[in-house]
Amino acid sequence: MAKRDYYQVLGVDRSASEAEIKKAFRRLARELHPDVNAHDADAEENFKEAAEAYEVLSDAERRRTYDRFGHEGLRSGGFQPGAGFGSFQDIFEALFGGDPFGSGFAHGPAAGADIAAIVEISLEDVLDDQQREITFEAVSVCDRCRGNGAEPGTPIETCDRCGGTGQLREVSRSIFGQVVRAMPCDRCGGEGRIPQTPCERCGGAGRITEMRTWEVEIPAGIEDGQRVRIAGAGHAGAAGARQGDLYVEVRITPDERFTRQGTELISSAQVQVTTAMLGGEVFVPTLEGEVAIAVPPGTQHGAVAVINRRGLPRLHGGRRGDQHVVFELVIPADLDEEQREAAERLAEALGHNHESRDSSTSPAESPRITPPG
Ligand SMILES: [Zn+2]
Ligand SMILES: [Zn+2]
Repeated sequence: MAKRDYYQVLGVDRSASEAEIKKAFRRLARELHPDVNAHDADAEENFKEAAEAYEVLSDAERRRTYDRFGHEGLRSGGFQPGAGFGSFQDIFEALFGGDPFGSGFAHGPAAGADIAAIVEISLEDVLDDQQREITFEAVSVCDRCRGNGAEPGTPIETCDRCGGTGQLREVSRSIFGQVVRAMPCDRCGGEGRIPQTPCERCGGAGRITEMRTWEVEIPAGIEDGQRVRIAGAGHAGAAGARQGDLYVEVRITPDERFTRQGTELISSAQVQVTTAMLGGEVFVPTLEGEVAIAVPPGTQHGAVAVINRRGLPRLHGGRRGDQHVVFELVIPADLDEEQREAAERLAEALGHNHESRDSSTSPAESPRITPPG
């Protein structure tokens, strides 16, 4: 496979500074990390490619050679890309110092997995902070053995393989220097201790799956699809590791009376044509019940009335939005004799010609009329 241009790999231009190169690599490395990208089989290859590009471009002398002579020049100069590479983790540790992903990174006891849940609320609920109890299945620390996996009152032996630390240490070399890497002990599974009589409840695992109920706070002003994170409410991890998080996706039940645009609500109101001409009032729904609003004389179809502060609050406080009411004029149909005469008199007074025009030349077209949806 032909080698790609190192600058292209990192997505920087040829004049990029050292800092820009480091930043680009750091960003790529995080994107491509297998914990983040478990579904992407190419991630490791792509990561190696990016690391190689970084290995060259972050070294002034190698970069100069590459700029003048390309890949060929580096190779004939004795450079072996990736020769000193250890694993992903080694490189991360050497580059970024320790634990670049928070404790989700695969050192020491494994952190608990996250849990996703969905809560549905109404548009009215968006006005105020809400509490919702949600129930979900989660891995918890066993309450019988308190997570140590031993039947209460029975002895627990210290693991002789890791000496009770739960970790095996391995020293490796990488281009970035010597890296000490800790792996969970394969004998005790990272616990450091081995129960002699497994706990009856959890069978020695120290963890059980059970239903858990959690009170979730949903802030006022939340948008459909936003997620609320509750740190530590997810699955329990291995002993000594942090719990996963709970992510609650908030869905807002569509309300056909309103269209939401951020903090603004849009609704429509039907106005009789005489009300629009003479003025009057109409009732419109708001999130807090129906209110009457004035219709000024001479209101046109499509005119918009703004009702202050009947919209939604901003997510983190601030002014509440407005409700915008679009007036839709209703034209009466099927007039009886008396109504028709009144309408004729009005037309006459307004000087509107409602009579057929002189049809001696050609008859008026009769188009097909589609009523409004
Ligand atoms: Zn137990
Ligand atoms: Zn061990």
